[in-house]
Amino acid sequence: MMERLLLKNVLLDGRNRNILIEDKRFKDLDAPAEVADASYLDASGTAILPALYNTHTHAAMTLLRGYADDMPLQKWLNEYIWPFEDRLTPADILRGSEIAAKEMAASGTVFFNDMYFDIEQTIDVVNRSGMRAAIGITVMESHSKAVTEEKKEFVRHWQDPTGGRIRLVMAPHAIYTVGERKLRDCAVFARENGMMLHIHLAETESEKEDCLREHGTTPVRYLDRIGFLGPDVVAAHCVHLDDEEAAILAERGVTVSHCPCSNMKLGSGIFPYRRLMQAGCRITLGTDGASSGNNLDLREAMKFAALLAKVGGRTEQLPAEEVFRWASRAGAEAFGIDAGVIAEGRLADCLLIDLSDIRMQPCHNLVSNFVYAADSRCIRHVLCDGKIIL
Ligand SMILES: [Zn+2]
Repeated sequence: MMERLLLKNVLLDGRNRNILIEDKRFKDLDAPAEVADASYLDASGTAILPALYNTHTHAAMTLLRGYADDMPLQKWLNEYIWPFEDRLTPADILRGSEIAAKEMAASGTVFFNDMYFDIEQTIDVVNRSGMRAAIGITVMESHSKAVTEEKKEFVRHWQDPTGGRIRLVMAPHAIYTVGERKLRDCAVFARENGMMLHIHLAETESEKEDCLREHGTTPVRYLDRIGFLGPDVVAAHCVHLDDEEAAILAERGVTVSHCPCSNMKLGSGIFPYRRLMQAGCRITLGTDGASSGNNLDLREAMKFAALLAKVGGRTEQLPAEEVFRWASRAGAEAFGIDAGVIAEGRLADCLLIDLSDIRMQPCHNLVSNFVYAADSRCIRHVLCDGKIIL
């Protein structure tokens, strides 16, 4: 039998109404108060918004939250993060992913694009949580937990236990941890198997300098030269690039994942918002791992992104509506998820925002309040794939 859920008395476009969800999708945005065979959710006092899509995470790194702070990226990775990760067991990763999924759902996120190890554990957590995810098979030259060949076998036999909420992607970590041969291999394997690609790119000044020294060109040009870039690529960070590189990313259809909190905390640099916007790049939003962020709250990342874009006096840059679109619709589109907007026929991923929360009052502008004033407590319910997950 078709599953039906009626959200009763919820605010949408300035008017309270009943919204019917049927078979995972918004069926009727102006439904009657009674619908046969439907279960009900009293949504009085809430407004509906699209849910959030986090396009760059390392979920189980919640275990490393607060473990090593206030130092630059390379020192942080080499002396603290990688040695710690060598000792993680699959049971640790299960626990870390559980904490991550709870934290993300509580802050309005229904999807995350992950890059980590022991992916069977994270898949199990996503399956049970009701969320969506793109789970990356992490490829590195020298990390003890990056076992690429084994995972390629896993891909060949894997079947999504959720019926469409999880997909596997290839995730070569970065150009400074993966050699050219493996990068090319990853791209070929991904494209043969209909998988997307997920990579850290142009994150720091030193990545750019090392690339110039080793390959005689900059990170974006290098990846383009070896045929890696395409509309199936999600590139995290993209901080250090020039106008021409921004144009290359746009032309190849690459999705950029902006991680403002991580970039600011690790001192990586300021995201070139205008450059990428003017080039016509698809920009989305990520939190990065909780060891660099130090949380997985994408709502908070929206606020940081919007404020960071205004530093230097350009207050008209990155208005609340635009950064909210990055975090919702653009993130869903990047992964071909038929959601990210509240519209009939689309998958029912949404948030019910508690308008009685003190931070939501008064409500001159719902999206502005959500981006600039709210916190997780303002989110009363989260729905993913038509089901209540919070
Ligand atoms: Zn990262």
